[in-house]
Amino acid sequence: MDYVSTRGHASVVGFEAALLAGLAPDGGLYAPRYWPQIARNEIKDFAGRPFAETAAAILSRFAGDAVSKTRLLSMARQAYAGFDHPATAPLVQIGDNDWLLELFHGPTLAFKDVAMQLLGGLFEVVLERRGERLTIVGATSGDTGGAAIEALKGRERVDIFVLHPEGRISEVQRRMMTSATEPNVFNIAVQGSFDDCQAIVKGLFADRDFANRVRLSGVNSINWARIAAQTVYYFTAAASLGSPDRTFSFVVPTGNFGDAFACYGAVQMGLPVDRICIATNENDILHRALSDGVYAPADVTRTSSPSMDIQRASNFERLLFEGVGRDAGALRTIIESLEATGRFEMPEDLRVEFSKRFISACASEGETLEEIARHEKTTGALIDPHTAVGLVAMRKARAQNRLEGPAIALSTAHPAKFPDAVEKATGRRPALPERFADLYDRPEKLERLENDLAVVKQFILANARGA
Ligand SMILES: *Cc1c(COP(=O)(O)O)cnc(C)c1O
Repeated sequence: MDYVSTRGHASVVGFEAALLAGLAPDGGLYAPRYWPQIARNEIKDFAGRPFAETAAAILSRFAGDAVSKTRLLSMARQAYAGFDHPATAPLVQIGDNDWLLELFHGPTLAFKDVAMQLLGGLFEVVLERRGERLTIVGATSGDTGGAAIEALKGRERVDIFVLHPEGRISEVQRRMMTSATEPNVFNIAVQGSFDDCQAIVKGLFADRDFANRVRLSGVNSINWARIAAQTVYYFTAAASLGSPDRTFSFVVPTGNFGDAFACYGAVQMGLPVDRICIATNENDILHRALSDGVYAPADVTRTSSPSMDIQRASNFERLLFEGVGRDAGALRTIIESLEATGRFEMPEDLRVEFSKRFISACASEGETLEEIARHEKTTGALIDPHTAVGLVAMRKARAQNRLEGPAIALSTAHPAKFPDAVEKATGRRPALPERFADLYDRPEKLERLENDLAVVKQFILANARGA
């Protein structure tokens, strides 16, 4: 399978190159040259099969000749063996027509593990064959860094450096990252904010000499392989409930639009889906974009669902690319207008096109906490704030008859990852699963560094084995 850049000024590359590069050299995002098709009878066959088998079947379409199907299957089996539920991504029915898709049974208790665990294996196989090394850097406000470290720790050909703002992530989130003491893992606590961390990471990539010297790459959700891996659970969930003979809607708690785009991808590949409901917290840029047609980033508000506190949804570019009929010139015009004026207005035909598939709703902080409490009262179970944002959106969309028929809402994090919000809403403090019983006793490995690009650069040069 070949990959093209959404901005059209980068050469077409294969799966390996798209995987290793993350962002395309023209600043665009990679997209498959065409959407592979999964036939109805194959979707039917996904029902009842192990998650890893479906993952390998779907991923082999995207990997093409780069990784063999047998290799993908053993990789997927290994990736999902570490999940603490035999179904990997189980469904729980919560109403006549409503289900929760639990995506938090992986090693760091958030849905990002589903793709990241597979990415770790893919990096290893591809780098081994090419005889290359990679230095991964990323800034995290919590979940992504932990999932990336958990997937890459101890891997021979990758070093990973994760920057987090000192004192501004939860203790559970920090310990999940810093308890990885493998020699290829470097946690950097930056004396600054998340934006400072992100600015440093941007600065590292902008220094081309440095970036080439250490073979710099990233694992944020612009990486195509993550999106590809996330298309899998839309198929497994729908198939296990009777697709393709039944059609479902999906409710997706959204920040960077990666997960939501993966759902759109599943539709392009042949999964019958009614609506994709975009659920946002108070950082509602995507809800505004889809309802008013104006994409205008505002300041980030801190909420109890921090993994969705995002105002620039990088994967939205992939949807726009599809929306303009894959016309890279038209997409560049949109991006230029956004960069010049800080906003853009979607043309009417694009709005109409998107409204055929997407609906959206936003949850306030109050509504989110109320939903956690309501869910606990009616089902006895605790949900995390990101999941609650999804359920608020589902409730609103149903009340307005914009969402009808059976619907599956994604449950993206384990409640124990956000214990303060859950306790505030219900008075109950969710317990971490048994395997984390000693988390607070594990030794921590982290480096405290000044909020200074040169200092971080120096630290990476001194420690990256690829340098
Ligand atoms: C990252 C994350 C999200 C948002 O996913 P996107 O792909 O960025 O839209 C939602 N919930 C949790 C728990 C997350 O970690």
